[in-house]
Amino acid sequence: MHNVIIIGSGCAGLTAAIYTARANLNPLVLDGHEPGGQLSLTTHVENFPGFPDGIMGPELIENMRRQAARFGADFKAGTVSEVDLSQRPFKVKAGNEFYETRSLIVAAGASARLLGLKGEKELIGRGLSTCATCDGYFFRGKPIAVVGGGDSAMEEANFLSRYASRVYLIHRREEFRASKIMIDRAKANEKVEFVTPYLVEEILSPQGLVNAVRLHNSKTGEQRTIDVDGVFVAIGHNPNSTVFKGKLEMDENGYLIARHGSLTNIPGVFIAGDVQDHRYRQAVTAAGSGCMAALDAEKFLEEHKD
Ligand code: NAP
Repeated sequence: MHNVIIIGSGCAGLTAAIYTARANLNPLVLDGHEPGGQLSLTTHVENFPGFPDGIMGPELIENMRRQAARFGADFKAGTVSEVDLSQRPFKVKAGNEFYETRSLIVAAGASARLLGLKGEKELIGRGLSTCATCDGYFFRGKPIAVVGGGDSAMEEANFLSRYASRVYLIHRREEFRASKIMIDRAKANEKVEFVTPYLVEEILSPQGLVNAVRLHNSKTGEQRTIDVDGVFVAIGHNPNSTVFKGKLEMDENGYLIARHGSLTNIPGVFIAGDVQDHRYRQAVTAAGSGCMAALDAEKFLEEHKD
């Protein structure tokens, strides 16, 4: 029987682990299908406070993990496939193991959607990014592409125009899902050029670094290649919340809904990080919410000693 199980080992989960471990709760962290979360998929992180020269994402995550382990956090591999939250203790199945816990922190994160192109994953950190705030700075004075037609794509195109020499906003349709104000803002931006309706067929990287995109016009069939040093894929995120369907409150996109900080509709279950946040999605906000969930879990366990 565990005091607290933390689902997810990204920034939110590991911060929750550090706090609950320091409260002598011996947390168990279940790694999930993407150990280390999105930070482990990025390169240089320059906006996490405390690192004036920046730090590599995987190193930052490894530091957090060591910090949690130092205070007694345990780690187990395995993706959570089932949870029973109908009564306490809660039951969790991960891999082939069953666990029981008095409290649960869900920090399962969200996964950025990728285009599904061959070799795409290998280009992350080599010109391909899913996070403009994280990586925009590396493309100062260079042409880049943003793929997507939602608010994220518009926002990222505008943000990236601060750095890039030119931003090609590539979208597969002529209509946009983004709100009008966001589209108008991007259209008014001299550096942003709309390229529609085009599908990205291939990201070219002859030396292992992105140098162009090959596009296919979905109406005329015309092919076109644009030279770019970076491609920002902004086609949305999927919160990793499927196993909580019908158990924890979620919005229509599957993001879990937090009440008063990290609390949920089930007493003893707390949520943190990107699984409940489609707005900020930063390492530092995920860490902050992991801390909140840990403090809430600690208080809950103090009040429910049975
Ligand atoms: P989204 O609204 O779901 O838009 C995703 C976009 O990516 C759509 O244009 C979609 O094209 C395109 N797309 C999806 N899969 C694709 C694929 N395989 N290949 C090519 N294109 C693909 O996602 P989002 O922009 O991340 O926004 C998510 C939520 O956060 C929304 O509710 C949004 O309003 C909100 N948000 C708000 C703000 C803000 O207000 N400041 C900023 C960011 C996000 P189709 O349209 O053709 O399906």
